[in-house]
Amino acid sequence: MRGEEQKLRQQIIDHCLAMNASGLNQGTSGNISVRFGDDMLISPSGIAYQTLKPEMIATMAIDDASGSWTGPLKPSSEWHFHQALLQDRPDANAVVHAHPTYCTTLAILRKDIPACHYMIAAFGGNNVRCSDYATYGTKSLSDLAVEAMKDRTACLLGNHGMIAIGDTLPKAMWRAVELETIARQYYFSLQLGNPVILSDADVEETLAKFTTYGLQETDDRKNYPARKAKNGRGRKSQTMAAGTGGES
Ligand SMILES: [Zn+2]
Repeated sequence: MRGEEQKLRQQIIDHCLAMNASGLNQGTSGNISVRFGDDMLISPSGIAYQTLKPEMIATMAIDDASGSWTGPLKPSSEWHFHQALLQDRPDANAVVHAHPTYCTTLAILRKDIPACHYMIAAFGGNNVRCSDYATYGTKSLSDLAVEAMKDRTACLLGNHGMIAIGDTLPKAMWRAVELETIARQYYFSLQLGNPVILSDADVEETLAKFTTYGLQETDDRKNYPARKAKNGRGRKSQTMAAGTGGES
């Protein structure tokens, strides 16, 4: 395994552990993917993050919807929307999905998050949309996620959870944490009355400033090569077993 791929696999594990340590995720319901050339590296299904080793991270071709993967463990049952987002969004190199409490509470209420705080601009516009509901792991959910994510870098999934994307995994994780924060603030403001929502002009002004806000950019992006030549390493395809036992 080449050094840069090994580094990305370890980065996925580190961020899975950080996601639980931060309280953003409980158990193994969250999942993370990153782009690696034409492939997607994705956390496997149903295994405690503490026991993950870099070689356990599954590899799937981004343009292959058959569900074939390489690796000792089958990929997260949510591979479908990870793959669809990496296909649809060339600006994204990483996808973080979890069921944090406040995002999920708003998703149960089917509420978009409006511009209740200027940090809404961290997600690319004047709101974060909540999608309709579809069963986990389905193409229907994947289609809804792509639609809700249009011109945004995060969305809520109806009666399910949230997704954040980024040009690097640290950036996607930063957004996931910020999204849960604004969801919590919006939730509490709804308890006390009618939140004041910022105007589109206010959001536009913040968006302009946000080109330089957030995590300091590093040269991490070079770790997500946009394309790579097929290297003939003999992809060993397996077919997804019928999904059982819940999402992870
Ligand atoms: Zn989920």
